Amino acid sequence: MLLDCLFGIVGLPPCDLTIYKMILTQCAVCATELGLSLGKKCGRCSTRYCGAECQVQHWKEGGHDTLCKKIKKAGGAEQYNANKKYAEAVAVAAEACAEDTKGQTCYICTQALHWKTKEGLVRMCSCRGTAGFAHVSCLAEQAKILVAEAEENNLDLKVYNERWVRWHGCSLCEQQYHGVVRCAMGWACWKTHVGRPEVDGSRRMAIGVLGNGLCVAGRFEDALPVQEAELAMKRRLGVPESSILVAQSNLAITYGELGRYEQSLQLERDVYSGRLKLLGEEHEETLLAANNYAISLHRLQRPKEASSVLRKMMPVARRVLGMSHETTLRIRLTYARALYKDPAATPDDLREAVTTLEDTDRTARRVLGGAHPVTMGIEAALRNARAALRARETPGSA
Ligand SMILES: [Zn+2]
Ligand SMILES: [Zn+2]
Ligand SMILES: [Zn+2]
Ligand SMILES: [Zn+2]
Repeated sequence: MLLDCLFGIVGLPPCDLTIYKMILTQCAVCATELGLSLGKKCGRCSTRYCGAECQVQHWKEGGHDTLCKKIKKAGGAEQYNANKKYAEAVAVAAEACAEDTKGQTCYICTQALHWKTKEGLVRMCSCRGTAGFAHVSCLAEQAKILVAEAEENNLDLKVYNERWVRWHGCSLCEQQYHGVVRCAMGWACWKTHVGRPEVDGSRRMAIGVLGNGLCVAGRFEDALPVQEAELAMKRRLGVPESSILVAQSNLAITYGELGRYEQSLQLERDVYSGRLKLLGEEHEETLLAANNYAISLHRLQRPKEASSVLRKMMPVARRVLGMSHETTLRIRLTYARALYKDPAATPDDLREAVTTLEDTDRTARRVLGGAHPVTMGIEAALRNARAALRARETPGSA
């Protein structure tokens, strides 16, 4: 997943930005999808409803009469939600790391239990031994201070970006956090920036950090409204096309994970044609986009279109990246799969799939090693392709 960059607002659309400031897009009572502008809002705390009926019910029976003041005090419904989700995510992360962090202390505050929140320690990066144990709250506080300092002193973009990385990566081993820790840091980043105006560059990056964090933790249902809000926001703000393509590409993955293949396909097609236009066919991003688009076609049982996209891009990948580049190997794998999984495949198609896979298998073993996921994918595909070919060549079986 890609991190977005900060620059490039070219102008603001003439609309009321305040109504768009949200990732909460459902009625708080009946969960009706409200999009960005439908329904009613509590005048005090901005909690959203589909209409007066749900609002009244929430007040009378849903406990909103007591909660409203608390939500308003926290900064409104979005901020309250972010704080609450953050606390939940920290608890999940500390629980998941409990075994690993037993008997350790935080490298930032030197305590085992956080002085204020009483949360436990986490560690999900590449740190080994006794290094890298910390509280999510301490990591978040550190990121917040470093970034705020860069903003206040107008440090240049390079310094700002280096500091921003603290929201999703470890400063000791310099690897991205994974799993539920990445997710907790995503909520930390969002809760820190949600209160700013939508045009704020850090706020725009924060929603991306949250979306990616939720995906990394496999929380695709939760990532969906966040990534949809991010894409809508970027379109409204008129950010550069490259930045919109990043958001589309991430959202396409989430649609795919949720089984919404048609929507995923539409986005993958847009990303592919956008990258072609912006970067040309020889750029690696374009080649990767072609591969993703082909995978989406393939998933919707459209193998002919998938193989035709890749037949065009394979020679480009070979020429520009070389035969042993991981992206070239991925593209050839997707191509071979599209060939042998096509119910209308001819024996020649199946033979081409087998030879393609035999060839990529040799290269992948040499370059990536046998344990690499791409190599393992190629070997599984090779077994299937050979079986399909054998079945076809055995008399009487077809
Ligand atoms: Zn409702
Ligand atoms: Zn309220
Ligand atoms: Zn700490
Ligand atoms: Zn680390």
